[in-house]
Amino acid sequence: MEQTNEMRIEFDSRSCNESFARVAVAAFMTQLNPTLEEVADVKTALSEAVTNAIVHGYENRVEKITVHCAIRGQELILTVSDKGKGIADVEKAMEPLFTTKPDSERSGMGFAFMEAFMDEVQVRSAVGEGTAVTMKKKIGRPAGEYLD
Ligand code: ATP
Ligand code: MG
Repeated sequence: MEQTNEMRIEFDSRSCNESFARVAVAAFMTQLNPTLEEVADVKTALSEAVTNAIVHGYENRVEKITVHCAIRGQELILTVSDKGKGIADVEKAMEPLFTTKPDSERSGMGFAFMEAFMDEVQVRSAVGEGTAVTMKKKIGRPAGEYLD
């Protein structure tokens, strides 16, 4: 039968908590026996989503961010949620180089990185209600596949 496991963390939208979230997810995913590269990919994608919640969702106000993390078989499913301002046009927001903050140091590459480093990225958002970014990635290889 497929193994499942999940955890959820909630923290203040302060950038100093980004490294906490990265380490928590990295520690949780070790049970999938990931490669260092897979851990690095997941940490990068998670950082992009958490940064977006802080700078766009809450526009640097201090509110709560939730990271939900589930394992189903060999798949890691991460959801980063905020109850911030939401995204009016998700499709446009996900285009590479699109940013609503071109004057700050943003380059509009966050979603492109999430899509590059994860197998699947889904965004649910409603203006005035918040945003949930769900990312999936198959991790490691089942025992036996190491004998190639
Ligand atoms: P970069 O990630 O390269 O610093 P960026 O954050 O602007 O720049 P993306 O991460 O690709 O680029 O996000 C694109 C746009 O989507 C943002 O400019 C913002 O308008 C919107 N956005 C992304 N995440 C959220 C969120 N959680 N809440 C509200 N708006 C968001
Ligand atoms: Mg971003």
